[in-house]
Amino acid sequence: MTERTFSIIKPDATARNLTGQINAMIEEAGLRIVAQRRIRMTQEEAEDFYEVHRERPFYGELVEMMTSGPVVVQVLEGDNAIAKYREIMGATNPAQAAEGTIRKRFAKSVGENSVHGSDSPDNAKIEIAQFFDEADIVG
Ligand code: GDP
Repeated sequence: MTERTFSIIKPDATARNLTGQINAMIEEAGLRIVAQRRIRMTQEEAEDFYEVHRERPFYGELVEMMTSGPVVVQVLEGDNAIAKYREIMGATNPAQAAEGTIRKRFAKSVGENSVHGSDSPDNAKIEIAQFFDEADIVG
């Protein structure tokens, strides 16, 4: 089933000029980048985006990390895009990420782990809508 997922190339990755290499891995996996924008996330945007983690001990650190430099927000489209992207991202903690995944190759730590990908269809919809108008997504 063709679906869409929301992706972020995080500040630790943009700082190391990894956008192109990460995009190559996304495209090689058969996912199409149908919208993409480089932005600086505001404090408010990062707080809203990670609202579900507000009570977690790392929430402050997470918001600080996401606002520490530019990010690339993206919409990816393809067959089973949500699960497929989670698979090529690898585990949250790069020490546990499988060989050949984005996080295994590039992530620095559990916090600075280079990419975000939606974890469910409902969240994908909400996350895409936070950063993109439907008209800016060109499938
Ligand atoms: P994801 O869906 O794989 O991104 O993982 P989660 O939804 O569990 O966590 C969201 C994000 O919070 C992760 O991608 C990390 O950037 C950050 N995070 C998760 N656990 C930790 C932690 O223990 N410490 C820190 N500093 N950040 C964390």
